Order: sequence, then structure tokens, then C-alpha cells
Amino acid sequence: MIISEQKSQTELLVQLTEKEHIFLIGCAACATACKVGGEEEVFQMQEWLQSLGKEVTGSVVIDEACHIMRAGRDLRHHKVAVAAADALLVLACGAGIQSISACSEKRVVGGLNSLFLGNIRRLGQFEEKCSLCGECILNETAGICPVTICAKGLLNGPCGGVEDGKCETDRELDCAWHLIYERLKVQGRSGVFARTVEPKNWGKKFKPGRHENKK
Ligand code: SF4
Ligand code: SF4
Repeated sequence: MIISEQKSQTELLVQLTEKEHIFLIGCAACATACKVGGEEEVFQMQEWLQSLGKEVTGSVVIDEACHIMRAGRDLRHHKVAVAAADALLVLACGAGIQSISACSEKRVVGGLNSLFLGNIRRLGQFEEKCSLCGECILNETAGICPVTICAKGLLNGPCGGVEDGKCETDRELDCAWHLIYERLKVQGRSGVFARTVEPKNWGKKFKPGRHENKK
């Protein structure tokens, strides 16, 4: 799930300067789970905008704002309210915001900051486990990702700073490689620990983004 947070009201006000008629868009998937872009937050945003004297021409919470066709379909269903707006304020992740940009030539204002790909620990509590590096080495590391969890992203064992299983950058945090070692030991696979992982091919993490599956 994409973890995101709402932009500050100060930042939104700058983006909405001279935009008096606004259509609001939320996302029923990740942004709803993060409590930043679901029905409730769209309603709260509407109340805030109206308290500033702005008109909300309409709103929609798209099933998955990152789904370009669904986003386009939902905007067409609200075409009168969309046409009446000077700006579309989108409470969705960066992918969702760009779906809306792809479907409308209107000024699109992103209302969220996308933070990371996260696992849900419990409602409202998320953990970053994967950095989408494009060349997964979890099979070598007992299902624990050092690229993301080790402060230095080390691929072949801990640095010299590990102490009592804790990371040198923050003694409150477990050292990723200590966790990997302990897990491999439980699984009777400690031999794997001695295997050298080749340097990662960061070319797989394309910039500019070129991942596109056209099937
Ligand atoms: S190695 Fe880590 S960052 Fe890379 S894909 Fe696997 S889990 Fe994600
Ligand atoms: S102590 Fe462990 S987690 Fe911290 S930087 Fe060193 S190897 Fe990485």
C-alpha cells in the first residue's frame, strides 16, 4: 500500500490561490486506509474550503485513483461539476494524482505527499519494508530486506557498528543483519549467510520511470 499524508493547509492555500471553484477527488484504496483521502477526509476538506468562502462544485471518491480508466469514467460521470471547477483537488497518492492529470486538462492540485510503500501493522500504523529496488534479494536474506531496513542498505552482512543486535545509527532499532542472521539460524540456513550477494543493478530502478506493462 502507498502510505501518504495530507499536505499542510498553508501549502494547499498557496496552490489554491485564485481558485474559487473546486472539485474534490479522493481514493477509496490506499488514501482511505491512511485516513487522508477517503469519504470522511473529502468531506472535511469540503467543509474547510467552504469556510474559506470557496465553492466545492462536487466530489467523488474513486475506487482506485491510480486506475486511469476508472478515474476517467468517474470524472465523466461528474462532468458538469468538473467543468464548473477552476481546479481539481486530489486526495490520492502521486500515481492517483497523475491519473487525474491524464484524464483532465484542468488544473490538478495534489493534496497529499506520497511517503513510501508500506505494510500495515494495524489500522493507522505502517512500516516500510520494501523500497521497490527492482532486483529482489529476499530469497538470500530470509525474507527480511536489508536494502530498506539496514540504515546503510548493506547487502552482505552487518557493518562494524552493530552492538547487541542494535543498529549503530539508532540503538533503539534492530540491526537488519542481526535479524537476518537470527532468522537464517532458526531455519537452519546459516550457510546462506556466507554467500556473497552481487552488487545490485540499480539500473533496474529506472529513472525516468519506464515500467509499463501493456498486456
Ligand atoms: S530487495 Fe528489498 S527493496 Fe528490493 S524488491 Fe526486495 S524487498 Fe523490495
Ligand atoms: S548496524 Fe546493522 S542495520 Fe545498522 S547500518 Fe550497520 S548493518 Fe545496517
